[in-house]
Amino acid sequence: MFLTVKRHRGLWTRKIAGAIFILTTQACGGSDNTSGHGNRAPRDAAFADERENMVERQLEARGIRDERVLTAMRKVLRHRFAPDLDPARAYEDRPHPIGDGQTISQPYIVALMSELAQLEPPCKVLEVGTGSAYQAAVLAEMGCSVYTIEIIESLATRARETLAAEGYDERVQCRFGDGYRGWPEQAPFDAVIVTAAAPRIPQPLLEQLRIGGRLVIPVGEHWQVLEVHRRTKDGFAREQVSDVRFVPMTGEVRRLPE
Ligand code: SAH
Repeated sequence: MFLTVKRHRGLWTRKIAGAIFILTTQACGGSDNTSGHGNRAPRDAAFADERENMVERQLEARGIRDERVLTAMRKVLRHRFAPDLDPARAYEDRPHPIGDGQTISQPYIVALMSELAQLEPPCKVLEVGTGSAYQAAVLAEMGCSVYTIEIIESLATRARETLAAEGYDERVQCRFGDGYRGWPEQAPFDAVIVTAAAPRIPQPLLEQLRIGGRLVIPVGEHWQVLEVHRRTKDGFAREQVSDVRFVPMTGEVRRLPE
């Protein structure tokens, strides 16, 4: 079966294989904890096969073409970003719980958002919603400097530890706080990626894009649409990409605009 995702203004059509296509980052049940964490090095080598299968079956098969994204996702050790999970399960075609009601996004969603950002190094990216820090590590592996903000303190702390353990701490800066107002000291960004669903577009994030830069963001409540807002010389151009399911963006975006 094919699911066709049509882009706004009919720019192009993406065909996605797979009868059961989970475009979600919703919270899913409790986490399994059957992993043995000892003897990491040899097992990590084995997970190269899981990563390769993930890239071929979940990403390339569904139309991800950006070589930088594919190469980065072959490289980043996804199972290290979901430490409470049986490591092989980290490569499954689904999101997984990471604690505090939050999730590590499905591999395809990470790839799609990274591709939609259209990044070429040296690139500077803001991510709102660090979570596990997996998306941030993929962006760093693509050659970008990454600034990422997480609103739950325990997740921000663990994300910093994981990034340091995996060697991404120089390329990724992680801040604890509400990402609604972005990171103005580091603006402008080539892209801003929001990995939680916003009821409306946070204006400060649009303002922190360089001209030609892209905001990639899921918009809506229960049903959401992944949108790309590209900054042009005189405003913004919007594309709607596909229906998605993310955990909600919380904080200031929930309050009425002044
Ligand atoms: N990018 C993550 C996905 C995390 S899920 C990954 O690769 O694993 C979304 C995250 O957004 C959650 O951790 C949630 O706490 C965070 N979040 C929600 N609202 C936020 C806000 N206003 N500012 C920063 N982070 C936010």
